[in-house]
Amino acid sequence: MTEGKLFVISGPSGAGKGTICKRLLESDENIRLSVSMTTRQPREGEVESVDYFFVEREAFERLLQEGGLLEHNQYCENYYGTPRAQIVQWLREGYNIILEIDYHGAFQVRDSYPDCVLIFIMPPSIEELEARITGRGTESDEAKQKRLQEALGEIAQSDQYDYIVVNDDLDAAVERVREIMHKEEEYVISINQ
Ligand code: ADP
Ligand code: 5GP
Repeated sequence: MTEGKLFVISGPSGAGKGTICKRLLESDENIRLSVSMTTRQPREGEVESVDYFFVEREAFERLLQEGGLLEHNQYCENYYGTPRAQIVQWLREGYNIILEIDYHGAFQVRDSYPDCVLIFIMPPSIEELEARITGRGTESDEAKQKRLQEALGEIAQSDQYDYIVVNDDLDAAVERVREIMHKEEEYVISINQ
């Protein structure tokens, strides 16, 4: 069986990563979404073990010390990281895996898996990004300002990615990411034949 492939999806908070990933998962059974671990508090409606594994700092640091995280980062005073075991198992089972993580994590993943594909979801403008974070209604004013400050630093890293997809029209952005995934998958199959 051909091993699966890792796709890393990054972009500033509010760019539409979660919305795009949800659409991709609904339409392709061979995709799995990595569930990250975080020390941030759950937002209303977020489900444990589906959106994140929500843990205390001590539990996160313990797993980190044991080498159980493929990558990790600190963002807006909280830890975020990718549990390694699930990724290794899914790749072996042939699934394509999406990791929705920031650029610090993306570059750590590329160090471990040089064949992974890095996709950056770009908002059409900073004004639209702010409108989307506001419209989502999940962040306090202070948290929103922090996320907007982080956004510029994240956008500055986008030229390190294999692909940049502007999420202006949602359907078009989903289609573009789907095309990229198919193209990269076909490439793996052709070099394995
Ligand atoms: P992220 O996961 O990158 O933080 P979300 O997927 O939560 O972003 O999207 C932020 C908000 O923007 C959500 O309310 C979502 O419905 C909305 N959104 C996503 N893509 C678009 C788009 N192309 N046009 C308009 N609104 C969008
Ligand atoms: P949020 O708090 O909005 O869910 O996520 C904040 C930021 O952390 C986003 O940029 C998101 O992509 C990133 N993130 C989520 N999970 C992980 C992870 O496991 N590792 C890293 N490095 N970043 C993550």
